[in-house]
Amino acid sequence: MVDVDVVVVGAGFAGLYLLHRLRGAGFSAKVFETGDDVGGTWYWNRYPGARCDVESLDYSYTFDPAFDAEWEWSEKYAPQPEILRYLQHVADKLDLRRDIKFSTRVDSAVWDEASSRWRLRTGQGNEVSCGYYVMATGCLSMPKALDIDGVERFGGDVYFTSKWPHEGVDFTGKRVGVIGTGSSAIQSIPIIAEQAAALTVFQRTPNFSIPAYNGPVPAGKKAAIASRRAEYRADARLSPGGVPATISEVGAMQVSEAERIARYEAAWQKGGIIEFLGTFNDLIANAESNETLCEFVRSKIRAVVDDPATAEVLCPSSFPIGTKRLCVDTNYYQTYNRPHVRLVDLRKHPLATITETGVDVVGESFDFDAIVFATGFDAMTGAIVAVDITGRNGLTLKDKWSEGPKTYLGLTIAGFPNLFTITGPGSPSVLSNMVVSIEQHVNWIVGCLEDMRRDGLAVIEPTETAEAGWVQHVNDFGDITLFPRANSWYMGANVPGKPRVFLPYVGGVGTYRTICDEVVARDYLGFAVAGSSGTRVNDGVIRPVQADVGIMLELIAGLGLPALETMSVDDARAFSTSMATQRPPGPDVGEIVDGVLPGAAGDLDYRLYRPASAGPHPIVVYFHGGGWVLGSHDSDDPFCRDLCVRSDAMIISVNYRHAPEARFPAAPDDGFAAVQWIAANAASLGGVPGKLAVAGWSAGANVAAVVCQLARDAGGPTITGQLLVTPVTDSDLSRRSYVDNADGYILTAPLMRWFWDHYADPSDRADPKASPLRATSLADLPPALIVTCEFDPLRDEGAAYADALAAAGVQVRHLPCRGQIHTSLTAVDAILSGAAARAEMGEALRQFLGASVPV
Ligand SMILES: Cc1cc2nc3c(=O)[nH]c(=O)nc-3n(C[C@H](O)[C@H](O)[C@H](O)COP(=O)(O)OP(=O)(O)OC[C@H]3O[C@@H](n4cnc5c(N)ncnc54)[C@H](O)[C@@H]3O)c2cc1C
Repeated sequence: MVDVDVVVVGAGFAGLYLLHRLRGAGFSAKVFETGDDVGGTWYWNRYPGARCDVESLDYSYTFDPAFDAEWEWSEKYAPQPEILRYLQHVADKLDLRRDIKFSTRVDSAVWDEASSRWRLRTGQGNEVSCGYYVMATGCLSMPKALDIDGVERFGGDVYFTSKWPHEGVDFTGKRVGVIGTGSSAIQSIPIIAEQAAALTVFQRTPNFSIPAYNGPVPAGKKAAIASRRAEYRADARLSPGGVPATISEVGAMQVSEAERIARYEAAWQKGGIIEFLGTFNDLIANAESNETLCEFVRSKIRAVVDDPATAEVLCPSSFPIGTKRLCVDTNYYQTYNRPHVRLVDLRKHPLATITETGVDVVGESFDFDAIVFATGFDAMTGAIVAVDITGRNGLTLKDKWSEGPKTYLGLTIAGFPNLFTITGPGSPSVLSNMVVSIEQHVNWIVGCLEDMRRDGLAVIEPTETAEAGWVQHVNDFGDITLFPRANSWYMGANVPGKPRVFLPYVGGVGTYRTICDEVVARDYLGFAVAGSSGTRVNDGVIRPVQADVGIMLELIAGLGLPALETMSVDDARAFSTSMATQRPPGPDVGEIVDGVLPGAAGDLDYRLYRPASAGPHPIVVYFHGGGWVLGSHDSDDPFCRDLCVRSDAMIISVNYRHAPEARFPAAPDDGFAAVQWIAANAASLGGVPGKLAVAGWSAGANVAAVVCQLARDAGGPTITGQLLVTPVTDSDLSRRSYVDNADGYILTAPLMRWFWDHYADPSDRADPKASPLRATSLADLPPALIVTCEFDPLRDEGAAYADALAAAGVQVRHLPCRGQIHTSLTAVDAILSGAAARAEMGEALRQFLGASVPV
């Protein structure tokens, strides 16, 4: 039996680099590879036209500058034979082959608890024992099983793009059928068409493709890399896609249509997947923006393809652009103008069977000399679960992943100690320049093994908590994008029976690298380790906040802003006003009117948001946030627009007096006066008399809650519901959420103390007009929706108010928002993960107001 420190499965980009690093770190290692040479993807995929679609200067190893210096790429996107030669060159130069066993497939792997080692078995009968076991088996290495009837009957030649004959194929004079129109088909069809006497392409779902403009390596880029190589490679490692690229800072709908088209045209002329999809910053998240790019590409297809009917069949319409792998082509669409090329739409004429002589679709039979299957891969998980892997307690990976893959960081799996996956599900992998992602994973794994050795440890495994947290984070990130809308291989949707789960991590290469490094810096957070020095569990979740909230927090942290509570009140107000200028404006409403109403001690400004639907409308009186010190109807403008659209109610946002100029109880007194005046003047404002609810955020929610108590005690006006978003309900600042979330989530415990100090004397703070939770009775208050956020100092007092209302017999619903912070739910169009909660708020207002639901 072979006995080594590490077994690596696969000898593509990943396996080769890993072997090199392991040797350098002093680990004994053995690589097993099914193919009879190195290369992986570039060994198997030899179909005509096969080439990379990330520029070769980027799609190559970066770990050793010598390879950059000595290897000359012949084209911007190198063809497969050249990439294979490159990998052979690397293997030769680093003398890797002596530790690779070719033509050997790993069939099974079992964790042996007694020895804390993996025992592997190959199809060729080899048995191997190793301390660590790494699957470098590739994301696109397991061809999808054919789900087409009758292939064995066909008397002509059958080819698969993913297992192309090494000697090549000459289609000259042949009638050829190609089944599939994914990336491999789009690359090969124009070349097959050049040779074949007749070519028929069978298409189920059309794909978007952009021109490659392939040619010589761009001299400017080469010179740039040569002159500032280290910075260029560092930029790539921290970029979203593993390639330095400028991603726009504006959304597609924020510019005029003319400018939008001009930008798309410029990007189209330039090429490059990552740059093209980065023309605007919201193309992968905003359906309306995305559709503008879809339509732009469709217009290009229609302009190129002569026959309008064929052009329409080639125009994708069933998924947002970018949510399936965007293809890069040379003359793909032009090929359909050739007289001997025909496109068959399988959605109209479903494929019936392969026959002895060709292909039958419903309504027509085709005869061929050769059929090419370009039917794709069982991506990301296929090659991993193809090996029978059994972890602790007899758990098989196939069973563990039966409802979709679960990993920690896409690198490790709970229940499978000392097993690593390179570019596994839950990592950026296929959404990136994969060489950069491979190098990052290899470096992380080798670093981990070195740390283990240094610390006398032999076993490492993620905890269930860490893994579940990561899976949640990956899903949360996917859910704020359009990716889940496509039936793509990213979603596992191309393989019958495969769970529909978004497989890669969409947070970007740079963000992901930072997270992996942070896991190490926090002493391998989320891992349990064991060895001669003992056993240690460092349980925890690396990114518990919602993905977009995390990005916002990082951006803000990066600005190094001073804490509000260290400023004068005037400076804090000026500062918070200036911060608000950067945010998205929120949706359009029917009409916005500014006005003045009588408060408790003088006039108050208000802003009225009228829905676009026909009035009269029910009314929501809204109170802004800002700790009774900051804010205005301007600060909460996007949120009020959003509430107006979602509830189809008129929102009247009232500017109550602020502390410290007007301390407690000025704010609730103004709030109550405003509600009284609005209720009395409902009809003249365009409202429905008697249909009035209150809403507020933070200190504004405190005002709203108090106003409900004042109205109850005063016998009116009637308030039919209260929406309290992350409310202040009590002056007790010692609750658990104040401790857990004291710092780091924008609203801090010190800032909240600063607000209270400006607002109310300590002796007043227990007054129910300041702390509505302390009211003698909470009975007979309007129905309530109370929204709290997990990472908010105010979380527990909001929850306490919900409990207390319920105990008093008030109809109340508590909506706790996982991963959100105090300021995130009101950040309309900026924090997309808050949209579901905002929808519930709108729905609650509709119910409070008995509003009819508009079409
Ligand atoms: C046609 C095509 C074009 C691509 N173009 C790009 C591009 O432009 N940019 C980009 O970033 N990515 C591209 N990719 C993705 C590509 O797969 C990766 O970039 C990269 O080559 C993956 O390297 P790898 O070593 O991780 O896996 P692979 O290259 O897939 O190698 C895995 C190896 O593991 C072996 N193996 C699997 N299971 C076993 C087993 N049980 N026992 C033994 N051996 C096993 C396989 O035989 C294979 O050789 C492309 C993929 C394809 C198919």
